[in-house]
Amino acid sequence: MERAVLFHGSGTPFETARFPTPRPRGAEMLVRVSCCALCGSDLHTHAGRRTVPTSTVLGHEIIGRIEAFGPEAPRRDARGTELAVGTRVSWSIAASCGDCFFCRNELPQKCTTVFKYGHRAFDRGHPFAGGLADVITLVAGTAVFRVPDSLSDTVAASANCAAATVAATLRAAGDVAGRIVLVFGAGLLGLTASALARSVGASVVIVSDPDLRRRHRAAAFGATMAVSAETQELAASVAEATDGRGVDVSLELAGVADTVKAGLAHTRIGGTVILAGTVLPTPSVPLDPENVVRHCLTIRGVHNYAPVDLGSALDFLAGPGQAYPFADLVDRTFGLDEVEQAFEHAHRQTKGRVVVTP
Ligand SMILES: [Zn+2]
Ligand SMILES: [Zn+2]
Repeated sequence: MERAVLFHGSGTPFETARFPTPRPRGAEMLVRVSCCALCGSDLHTHAGRRTVPTSTVLGHEIIGRIEAFGPEAPRRDARGTELAVGTRVSWSIAASCGDCFFCRNELPQKCTTVFKYGHRAFDRGHPFAGGLADVITLVAGTAVFRVPDSLSDTVAASANCAAATVAATLRAAGDVAGRIVLVFGAGLLGLTASALARSVGASVVIVSDPDLRRRHRAAAFGATMAVSAETQELAASVAEATDGRGVDVSLELAGVADTVKAGLAHTRIGGTVILAGTVLPTPSVPLDPENVVRHCLTIRGVHNYAPVDLGSALDFLAGPGQAYPFADLVDRTFGLDEVEQAFEHAHRQTKGRVVVTP
């Protein structure tokens, strides 16, 4: 029997349920979970700020080892590397069909039949679809990647969420080599963006965050300047770094309406404004159409990512990312029978990811 921790709704205790070890069918793979990190979105769901179908097994930032292949499951990962029983893997949050309008237009994460791990209503026929469990069944259409040996489980766990999303964000921004990049937010997304932008040659990375402790941390993740979100300080710093021109690229990863406004205000003529942080409702932001036209601005939204970005994220974390203290962003580990305490602890602290290990 294997355990799955069921979430029945905000304010209701978690329930540990037991089901027989599933036998993978068709192209499915059975993976034994090594660990699952609690994402900000799991915390929003647990606190009732975000609605998901319940009951459900939460957790999508997962690392595990292949335990069994379905008869039609691929024996190679998304890059052609061999997979075997025992191979440590990461995989795309979203499994997609590969054939619908969105899949054919490079938006597999918006597949019309998308299957998102850790986001699905509990289904007795497929009980293991989230990370807070002993095992998980990967369905057909999941982009699976072998995890480089140099990465620890806890650092690799968030690759398929934060780091892959950041890779998608920078891919949308275009080549940032020699560019001046403004990053809003110094959480896991913002810090990863800072380090990744520097590793691909950004000459200046300005990280803006209202929290002084988080700003201090940004320097260790490659930020050349860390400034408050306070309007005048931010404006002065951008003006100083860019001779008053404005930044080449701004990345909104804080999820705050005011920083969306600030990104639009501080991006130079011909620059690019990427919005990726606002995944919950915020107040509207006024948009001056004349400013967008006269500044020849490009504004892009990025939600989740395509498989290629997960590959980039793993390459980055196992390569140039080793120069940055990602391991320090993991705060504490709890057992699968301590999920309640893990969430309580995660809500109370801002140090880093809380990880659950079966
Ligand atoms: Zn996540
Ligand atoms: Zn599709």
